[in-house]
Amino acid sequence: MEFISTRGKSPAVSASVAIRTGLAPDGGLYVPKSFPNIEISQVQDNYADFAVSIIQPFFEADPLYDHIPEICEQSFSFDVPLHWLNEKQAVLELFHGPTAAFKDFGARFLASVMEKLQQGQDRDLTILVATSGDTGSAVASAFYGKKGINVKVLYPEGRVSERQEKQLTCWGGNIESYCVTGNFDDCQKMVKTAFRSEKLAADWDLTSANSINLGRLLPQIVYFYYSSLLYLKKTGAKPVIIIPSGNVGNSAGAYWAVELGAPVEKIVLAVNANTTIPDFIKSGEYTPRASVATIANAMDVGDPSNMERLRSLFPSHKQISDNLESISVSDDMIRDTIRKIYDKYNYIMCPHTAAAEWVRQNMYNVEPGIVISTAHPAKFETIVEPEIGQSIEIPESLRQMMGTESKFSRISPDINQLF
Ligand SMILES: *Cc1c(COP(=O)(O)O)cnc(C)c1O
Repeated sequence: MEFISTRGKSPAVSASVAIRTGLAPDGGLYVPKSFPNIEISQVQDNYADFAVSIIQPFFEADPLYDHIPEICEQSFSFDVPLHWLNEKQAVLELFHGPTAAFKDFGARFLASVMEKLQQGQDRDLTILVATSGDTGSAVASAFYGKKGINVKVLYPEGRVSERQEKQLTCWGGNIESYCVTGNFDDCQKMVKTAFRSEKLAADWDLTSANSINLGRLLPQIVYFYYSSLLYLKKTGAKPVIIIPSGNVGNSAGAYWAVELGAPVEKIVLAVNANTTIPDFIKSGEYTPRASVATIANAMDVGDPSNMERLRSLFPSHKQISDNLESISVSDDMIRDTIRKIYDKYNYIMCPHTAAAEWVRQNMYNVEPGIVISTAHPAKFETIVEPEIGQSIEIPESLRQMMGTESKFSRISPDINQLF
């Protein structure tokens, strides 16, 4: 199967090459030249087996084709439960991986693929990630101990929570953590400068692991197909799926699942006070802007990096307005929803999940549906605990990270400190 750039000025490549390259040479994002039709009417018992039936067709004629079962088995070794609040309303819990957020799916698949691609290479691969939270920890956890690969994680000093910092710095080994005396933009600028440097390109084999990488997107198709089948089986109806969205990588996975044939009634993107997407759907004009800080901070994005993939799927404004729906949810609505859902169902949601739940309760109350839960509430305890009036139990994997020693270097925002 072949992948082409959204900007149309790079040659078509196989999945392995697209994953190894990250961004296409013309600056665009890799998308399938055409989508295979994958007819599945039943879910397998084993999630990893189901993942193989969705992901393997994308590796048709690729050197990794035969390795996909082993890679899926390694990557998806945790539960993916659909939690039912009532007869028609379910929550897809994507937070049972090692770092308790959905980014574990993409990061773990990417890490397994890259380790395979590194076999027999004489030079180590160095991955640079700038993070404001969940991405860095998922990438660090996924690549920890992978042979032939080193990771440098950059995060802004004083801008991540104590628990997040622990998850970024508990590693050592092939993971180097840098606490940068600057903000997230400074961290991102350092990464961009490194990728542009010819000297570094000559001395190091550099790549990124951010959400535009095809290797992070493919596994994000699987759980949408999977949960829509489970939903259809139980209720006899196709679900409306509501997704807490920032860079829309997760949502791009949902639209791709529909292209493959997943039984989905409608996809709705819940956003916070960052309204670039709903404004775009309304006006047809895409206006990126600076991000606004909210309590659902993993969605604080003013220029969603995967928007280019959605726009290539729906090139005209009519297609955009026919297929995309997005609703903005304020911090107060999020807090209110965390409280109400806890009172009504004794169920605790993280702020991102609660944004999507607000949309379900207020915009689609009578329709059936699945809310996508992107993180465990214990990762955002300072926001959630005051609303529910009790402490949240920490998942075992996070608890283990809390108990370890932090290893990091504190550096100024200067690229020379990194190499
Ligand atoms: C990354 C993240 C999001 C946003 O996902 P995108 O793919 O960037 O749209 C939502 N919630 C949580 C908890 C996240 O970590």
